[in-house]
Amino acid sequence: MAKQRMLQFVTVARETPEKRDASVRAQDFNEIYREFAIPKAEEQAGRCSQCGVPYCQSHCPLHNNIPDWLRLTAEGRLQEAYEIAQSTNTFPEICGRICPQDRLCEGNCVIEQSGHGTVTIGSVEKFVTDTAWDMGWVKPIRPHAERTESVGIIGAGPGGLAAADFLRRKGVQVTVYDRYDRAGGLMTYGIPGFKLEKDVVMNRIKQLEDGGVQFVLNCTVGEDLSFDAIRGKHDAVVIATGVYKTRDLMGPGSGAEGIVRAIDYLTVSNRKSFGDEVPEYDSGELNAEGKRVVVIGGGDTAMDCVRTAIRQGAVSVKCLYRRDRANMPGSQREVANAEEEGVEFVWLAAPKGFSGSTAVEGVMVQRMRLGAPDATGRQSPELIEGADYVEDADLVIKALGFEPEDIPGLWNVPELEVTRWGTIKADFRTHATSLPGVYAVGDIVRGASLVVWAIRDGREAAEAILTYLGQPATAVAAE
Ligand code: FAD
Ligand code: SF4
Ligand code: SF4
Repeated sequence: MAKQRMLQFVTVARETPEKRDASVRAQDFNEIYREFAIPKAEEQAGRCSQCGVPYCQSHCPLHNNIPDWLRLTAEGRLQEAYEIAQSTNTFPEICGRICPQDRLCEGNCVIEQSGHGTVTIGSVEKFVTDTAWDMGWVKPIRPHAERTESVGIIGAGPGGLAAADFLRRKGVQVTVYDRYDRAGGLMTYGIPGFKLEKDVVMNRIKQLEDGGVQFVLNCTVGEDLSFDAIRGKHDAVVIATGVYKTRDLMGPGSGAEGIVRAIDYLTVSNRKSFGDEVPEYDSGELNAEGKRVVVIGGGDTAMDCVRTAIRQGAVSVKCLYRRDRANMPGSQREVANAEEEGVEFVWLAAPKGFSGSTAVEGVMVQRMRLGAPDATGRQSPELIEGADYVEDADLVIKALGFEPEDIPGLWNVPELEVTRWGTIKADFRTHATSLPGVYAVGDIVRGASLVVWAIRDGREAAEAILTYLGQPATAVAAE
């Protein structure tokens, strides 16, 4: 009888790929997890119990066919596993690396609920797709037939690129416009290499270029080219510009030198990883080397900042957050990684101002405690009177979240409707905006969110655009 490869969760323990030693990985910007070896990936995939109603799949924003690719991996049929993974996800190797799996697919795995430890879905997705790249199974897009219609996509982040990929596979002519000199959006210039190495993103962009997607880079829509001009050139337009306006800190001294925005700090660091000339880094303005660094915020951006500062050679790195560990928005996995690398967390601490004359010398910190839960059930932080102190700092990084820019104002298109939060109003399923033929996806609609949700939006908008262009959408063939 053939060996039973699945349902191994009782005898095989959950294992994630090995992490590099903290003292070694803190010296570079390479990813911290090693790859599974083939037998380990097959063994871990074989822990899946092949649920009839897979909760992992329903909690994956892309509804990936997880049980199928796990079974194929356990059987050593890696190319087929890749084809299944690719058919629903534009960037499976990226999601496998950076999705917060504990809140999505893995957090809802029934094996986890039964106390055996979740199936390592993300790591297997990464393994399968990295193998596909190594083996040459990932090919440039070759549509069966070319179409004459063209679509202009503003923003080369995951939302825009997912739409570009889907439309190009259907033979549509696609042009992607971006204000940066490289495509990829926050996957390129926001998320640091120790979570997502840059060649992983660049390989995908090359695949799109080789498949006929045109990129117009260094082009800020609203400045270098008007939105109207883009609408005039294309049969449909997708807005995928993300959210970049930083929530600010008020209080005395908040304008001092050395208080910087997280997005500027991370962009400069990522540029350095590409080997670019970066004057703001070389001058020390956006470089933590030799400095006492304080990062303010408790989300994933704050986690990326503290871990970047460690790698740049900061003397000390502290993260101030006004709630406690249990109530922070950032992933617990990333907090643990940061602590291992030498970051100190100061919980229940909020800034009230900054000391120093021209350059910042310290953060004036108010101690907090958690009060009664509010309407959402979350405990609100309350001030503890008389418990203030100063945290010494030469570099303060503000990582308090992002808001949308005023797109209708900046692009002179007042008919483009926005919500009261300034995000673009778009239909929940088609992603159509108030302007005919204009769609919007990703963070500019959802507010700061996740790569996997931007991919989903981009794919759904592309499907709706195919209908709008006059041809019913069908499933996209896997490479
Ligand atoms: P973006 O990725 O922001 O791309 C928008 C693109 O539009 C950019 O390239 C920008 O240059 C371009 N653009 C903007 N305005 C214009 C204009 N006027 N003209 C031309 N181009 C323009 N998500 C995860 O799932 N996992 C993580 O680990 C994770 N870590 C993160 C870490 C950081 C530091 C940050 C900031 C975010 C992180 N996210 C993470 C969130 C994730 O990166 C975003 O949700 C996702 O990138 C949104 O995709 P998007 O396509 O909507 O926008
Ligand atoms: Fe899990 Fe993200 Fe992959 Fe979906 S895309 S299976 S949520 S890692
Ligand atoms: Fe397998 Fe877990 Fe998904 Fe069930 S929920 S199919 S056990 S990965």
